[in-house]
Amino acid sequence: MDTDRLMSERLRAVQARIDAACAASARPREQVTLLAVSKTFSADRVIAMADLGQRRFGENYLQEALGKISECATQRPDLPIEWHFIGPIQSNKTRPIAEHFQWVHGIDREKVARRLSEQRPARLPPLQVCLQVNIAAEDTKSGCSAEQAPELAALIASLPGLRLRGLMAIPRPQADPAAQRAQFAQVRQLQERLQAQGLALDTLSMGMSDDLEAAIAEGATLVRVGSALFGPRGSAPAATA
Ligand SMILES: *Cc1c(COP(=O)(O)O)cnc(C)c1O
Repeated sequence: MDTDRLMSERLRAVQARIDAACAASARPREQVTLLAVSKTFSADRVIAMADLGQRRFGENYLQEALGKISECATQRPDLPIEWHFIGPIQSNKTRPIAEHFQWVHGIDREKVARRLSEQRPARLPPLQVCLQVNIAAEDTKSGCSAEQAPELAALIASLPGLRLRGLMAIPRPQADPAAQRAQFAQVRQLQERLQAQGLALDTLSMGMSDDLEAAIAEGATLVRVGSALFGPRGSAPAATA
């Protein structure tokens, strides 16, 4: 089957899953935004997807992303694509992130937050950001602990170049659906505690191809979906950050 047609069917299938998950938890459909995770896929695939009406894209690897952002802008200056950086952030690579993205989901430490704020060009609106939390306190993943979150969130909210929108999490995959939901629920509860402290947060970035239903059931407002939209990724990334 030709790839554009396949892509359009995949997009419709993912939208239908989001519709059904919203209906199942009696949430208005417009509360949930789809972020298309295009890492390892070419600018041509992004443009084809954008032509189907999907306008928000997430990238993990900085060098790969910068090439793609510039290719899309050159080939199709008419397409208003919103770029989200969702990968781990090295503190010496913050400047291009601050200059080329509208959103950053993986902030998990003060140094990175301060640098992104300082390096955000004054001509652009503040960078929209999420604080990444490591809810299960796994040592293998990035993200701050739930204990660190209140102080770090308050700091980020005070930085002029950033606008703190909410929390991002990548919980460990769980075979048991109840356990999977419980992890997403913990992220939502942390968000509620931060809101109670006076932080105006409206974004919960959680849920991917395999677990978006559980995430939406627990309040996700943005799901980051890659393989369900673009097909399986090769084992190696096209470039590393
Ligand atoms: C790759 C990636 C995704 C998308 O994963 P799929 O399982 O392909 O949907 C979402 N979020 C982050 C942070 C990722 O790195």
